[in-house]
Parts: sequence; C-alpha cells; structure tokens
Amino acid sequence: MVIQYKCPECGADMVFDSATGGLHCQSCGHKEQIEGYQKEYEPYQQQFHSAIFEDEDARQYQCKNCGAVLFTEKHTSAVICSFCGSPMILGDRLSGSYAPTKIIPFSISKEEAEKAFHKWCKKLKFSPKEFTEGSRIKEITGIYVPFWLYHLRGQGEAHLHCIRTHVFSRGDEEITETSHFDVYRQVDLALKDIPADASEKMADHLMDSLEPFDYSAMKEFQTPYLSGFLSEKYSFTDKEMLPRVTKRANEFMDEFIRSTVQGYDSITFENRDYHIGQLSSEYALFPVWMVYYDYNDAEYTFAMNGQTGKLAGDPPRSIPKIATSIGLLTLLIFMLCRIITIISGGPLL
Ligand SMILES: [Zn+2]
Ligand SMILES: [Zn+2]
Repeated sequence: MVIQYKCPECGADMVFDSATGGLHCQSCGHKEQIEGYQKEYEPYQQQFHSAIFEDEDARQYQCKNCGAVLFTEKHTSAVICSFCGSPMILGDRLSGSYAPTKIIPFSISKEEAEKAFHKWCKKLKFSPKEFTEGSRIKEITGIYVPFWLYHLRGQGEAHLHCIRTHVFSRGDEEITETSHFDVYRQVDLALKDIPADASEKMADHLMDSLEPFDYSAMKEFQTPYLSGFLSEKYSFTDKEMLPRVTKRANEFMDEFIRSTVQGYDSITFENRDYHIGQLSSEYALFPVWMVYYDYNDAEYTFAMNGQTGKLAGDPPRSIPKIATSIGLLTLLIFMLCRIITIISGGPLL
C-alpha cells in the first residue's frame, strides 16, 4: 500500500514542513495541520495497493504520480520517487506489528541542517583545510530511524568502598588520616524511555551519540509526518534489543547509586547485584539527517539529530595540523619551565 498526500487545492504533492509542523504544498504553498487531517482529508490521501513484486529482501512499488517502478529494501517504510520526486509512504510496512506508536517530527529543515554542518566543519581544528572549508556534501538525507523506548524496573544492591582523607598539622608534623567506609545501597528504580535504535543499517555508536532527544516534542504517530522523508521499519524486535538496553540500564543504576554517595574522596564498587526487568516498550521514530561527504576519494558519513542539531561522526584528521599543535604545546611548556626557573633564581641558560 502506497500513501501519497495530495494538495486539496492544486493536487500537487504535500510534504512535512519542519517550520510549521504541518503538511505543506510545494506547488501552491497551501498548508494543512496534521492533527485531525487524516479524517477530514481522507479522500485526498491516495492509497494504492501496488506492491507489484516481493521476496524476502526486496519489494517493488509503483509511484502513482509518474508510473515509475521503485525497488525498495526490505526495511524501508517511506521513500521519495527517484524519477519524479514524489513522496511515497509504504503503509503496509507501518501497520500491524510494524505500526509505530510515537514520533518526534523533524524540527530542523534540510537547509538548516546543511548550514549547521558547514559551521561545524569550520570549527574542526585537526581536520584538513580542504575538508573544513570544502563543500563536498554528496547527499543529505532526512530519515526517520526506528527506536525502541523501554520502560524498565531496576532492582538491586551494591557495596561500595569509600575513602575519606583528612590532613592536619600537629606541631611540626603534617598528619594524613585515612578513614575507610563500607557503604551499602539498596535501590528500586523505574527507568523510563531508555532508547535503543532498532535499525540494522544505522551504526549503534553513531545513533547513541545523537542523544538526548527531547521527549516533550514527541507526538502520537501519524503517517503524514513521514511525507518527504525516508523512513525505516525496525529490523530487531524489542526482545532482541533487550540485552543492549540492559547493559545501559546497569550503567544508569551505577550512576544513580554513585549520586547518592557523597562526601568521600574516593568511591569504588566492591560488588553489585542488579536485576533489570522489562515493564513495557514503545516503538518510536526519531528524526536524523544523514550527511554523506566526499573527501580524498573516500565517503565520510555523519549523522545529525533532526530535532536538536547535535552532530556525530569521525572527520578526517590532518597529521601536519596535529603535529604543529603538539610542537607548539611542547614549545610553550618548555618556555614556561624556563620562566619559572629564572623567577626562582635559576640560571638564564
Ligand atoms: Zn497545492
Ligand atoms: Zn514518481
């Protein structure tokens, strides 16, 4: 099933507009709110049953705008027709067990994302000049990435070894007194909305680096939000992703316990025993701009949080620039040492 949103005024394609949070006609400028849109404009929402070919890994859909046949990967749930540019939402990959419950819509437009990327590049101190000042963005794509949001309960206990030192003088002597404490904590925590990206395609470290997302802007899922963007459906179920999120939950438990133990000079976990249980999970789509950049015959991939603009990725490093910085730093340290020696009455040379 292909869904294409047509303008009720002129019949052209409508796409999601990050500035207004609604649908926008690219041809006549007509605007539509998304809340309540589904019911009122159902006749203008064109749905076609047109999966014309399918197998395990791929499926073909026909664009009703231009008639072209599009080949899609098995996890794709929204695309843009590569022939006429018309947004196509693949409804059969967004229904049943694949129906998302929540979405954070894009709040950064493509132009804003491009500008922010160039600004970020200019600030990179250790990257080659041709990279930071160049403009070789090969492609910039807005994609809704599938995430599982877990509600977990973390129960457990931990023993910590804490040390407090106290230095004081008695007569001519300086005395250091070290006290050791055995600290015990028992916790029962509700961990809400712990995210884990559920797409096989997206690198986990890249997606983790985009956090945090602002959940206050999260909406009930509706298909018009996807119009004009790419979207993926999850490739791993919430059960399959649980071990990864449990690892993160353990880290949260540590962090929380640590925050309750204060007033010591050193804190070490002696042992811990946690039990993480899944209460529920929600399937949500989060906005990400993927930036593909050509440099030195290689392609570099960066990801940008489509809501906050936070960027992640590894830019190329310039060895001469790093060497110059290390050289300058060494020189500075050497000069400082000389100055201190001279001030303290040392030899001039
Ligand atoms: Zn229009
Ligand atoms: Zn088309």
